[in-house]
Amino acid sequence: SICYLNGGFVPRSEARISPMDRGFLFGDGVYEVIPVYGGRAFRLDAHLARLQRSLAGIGIANPHSHAEWTDLVQRLVAAHHWPAQAVYVQVTRGADTVRNHAFPHDLPPTVFMTADALAPIAPEQLERGVSAVSAADNRWLRCDLKTTALLANCLLRQLAVEQGCAETVLFRDGFLTEGSASNIFVVRDGVLLAPPKSHLMLPGITCDVVLELAAKHGQATEVREIREEEVHSADELWLTSSTKEVLPITRLDDKPVGSGRPGPVTRAMIDWFRQARIEECGA
Ligand code: PLP
Repeated sequence: SICYLNGGFVPRSEARISPMDRGFLFGDGVYEVIPVYGGRAFRLDAHLARLQRSLAGIGIANPHSHAEWTDLVQRLVAAHHWPAQAVYVQVTRGADTVRNHAFPHDLPPTVFMTADALAPIAPEQLERGVSAVSAADNRWLRCDLKTTALLANCLLRQLAVEQGCAETVLFRDGFLTEGSASNIFVVRDGVLLAPPKSHLMLPGITCDVVLELAAKHGQATEVREIREEEVHSADELWLTSSTKEVLPITRLDDKPVGSGRPGPVTRAMIDWFRQARIEECGA
């Protein structure tokens, strides 16, 4: 596949960056993952706005205008023919001549973009849901920034994988934050619950789509802190992300969630989400 690196498109197998890149040495960078359906990026403006926010949050000047990013994404997408793609965008603080924690001056950032096929969610995962485990959220206190320093997220995800599960649901001080790479929604007594945005979680683009769709379709919703016990005794649970869309969680810590099958609010949201995607991207 073709990727974009620092001003040019090259085969991904030929792309090279310096081992002195601060992304490699320190995880000093930010990223985005943008889903593309039928050649059209879904919620591109929201992803580019979040990229801008993440860059500003770690003090990297945005190397491109909104129009330039849009053009780069379109050119990358056009270079591949998958029906659905996930575009990955990473910007790091660049490659210095010495390893030094302090920011270097006048260093051009490293800009890398690549695309991969985005497989449709397996129908049986949507029908049966996936299993998850819970764990204490031991990440730093700026989880609102989408940084490439993802070691804690990787370790937390691995806990799930080692137990044959798809995701780890995180709690900080007894309250739900999010998943290791997703946002988490809870349904209790027909009401959709979502934790308020804060420095403890990523402001998910898919999360915003779900909240918008709930409002549009008259689904009762409360954005508020959610206690751990409320998640463990939820009627329905699902995760959202740009690559997983809306995915039911039907087992948590080896116990069924509600009936153990995706519930009515979950199934409605999956349909509303699919409609929105088709309306906006045509696929
Ligand atoms: N939370 C974390 C920690 C993530 O890594 C992600 C993205 O993969 C999300 C939430 C979901 O965000 P989005 O819907 O923008 O993909």
